[in-house]
Amino acid sequence: MNIVRTVTAFFISSAIIIGCAKNPITGRSQLSLLPESELQTMGNQQYREFLNTARVVSPSADRDAEMVRRVGQRLVNAVVAYHKQNGISDRLEGYKWEYNLVNDKQVNAWCMPGGKIVVYTGLLPVTRNEAALAAVIGHEICHALFQHGNERMSQGMVQQGLGSALALAVSNKPSATQNLFLQAYGVGSTVLGTLPFSRKQESEADHYGLIWMAMAGYNPNESVALWERMAQAGGAQQPEILSSHPSDATRIRQIKQWLPEAMKFYKPAGK
Ligand SMILES: [Zn+2]
Repeated sequence: MNIVRTVTAFFISSAIIIGCAKNPITGRSQLSLLPESELQTMGNQQYREFLNTARVVSPSADRDAEMVRRVGQRLVNAVVAYHKQNGISDRLEGYKWEYNLVNDKQVNAWCMPGGKIVVYTGLLPVTRNEAALAAVIGHEICHALFQHGNERMSQGMVQQGLGSALALAVSNKPSATQNLFLQAYGVGSTVLGTLPFSRKQESEADHYGLIWMAMAGYNPNESVALWERMAQAGGAQQPEILSSHPSDATRIRQIKQWLPEAMKFYKPAGK
């Protein structure tokens, strides 16, 4: 019994040592037990399955869908430039970006590892303008690129004593792993419940989301009004996006602190 425990503990702690990776942008060491390429593969599969049943709005016939694509492309151009300037373009390996608007009244949006971005039409009355939409998509891109889902899935599995079994679980892809994945990226909020991002992850996504929206030509100040509107939206029923991205007064206070830094990156479009 004790030997089994000791051996199990050894494997889990080895996995933790092996699976800790330092993010070159945030400088924070994160638990990362899953190969990111595996998460990208899962992301692409889940995204295709999602699109099979979702009501995708065609950008050729709809101004909002066209806006989602434009905002996504401008943000990705900024992200690519930022990574190039910092000599870390290898972090974007495997990313094939896509941007879709789906007809769904949920106030929600997400970006999967691998770069598949989805915005729900229910989000647009809250974002109201293109810069605020850029704030949301920039935030979601950060969660994907900073491997926050990988970190949360890894933490969840270690807590359940399944650290060493994780790779096996993923390679067999039981539905439980897929559900965990969907929860980790805020896709399954109504059906599966959510696995909220941590306060630290939310801060990182807010901070670098501001910088990337500024680089893409969107005024980062719009972010403050957006999160204020988000907090007020829905009344008794909070927006789906807040269940996976918990919001509080800390968010707006921190965003205000980061604004001067973000404004240094801001180049208004056309100038
Ligand atoms: Zn978030």
